[in-house]
Amino acid sequence: MSPVQTIRRIGFRKWYERELLRSHANLVLLLLSAIGLLTAAEIYDRRIALSDQLQVLACAAASAAIGLHALRRYLYLLNHAEFVADQAVCGRCERYASFDSVDEGATPAELNVCCRHCRHEWVIRL
Ligand SMILES: [Zn+2]
Repeated sequence: MSPVQTIRRIGFRKWYERELLRSHANLVLLLLSAIGLLTAAEIYDRRIALSDQLQVLACAAASAAIGLHALRRYLYLLNHAEFVADQAVCGRCERYASFDSVDEGATPAELNVCCRHCRHEWVIRL
């Protein structure tokens, strides 16, 4: 489901909250993968059997790959949520996140909204 559809269905505040939760879940995953990588570095030893060394290196590579993916997702979700939140302020009365969705915008990544207080309309780009 696209962000436009999600915001129209559950509202901006809940969408924003969910984006931050998803973002920080990726941060937790990043920290866990860092622990996995450090643990692999700690237990690696050249004196152990080659198959065990390969297992430790595979765990380290998997932790690094998961950590890199989690870092990218964390930064993307956080920056995207902030990018949209910066547009959630009414240009006339400056109320934050107090708008109703009018309709979908000209492109699938736009949402036409109307302020609940002053009825000012603007476009939020997602
Ligand atoms: Zn307003």
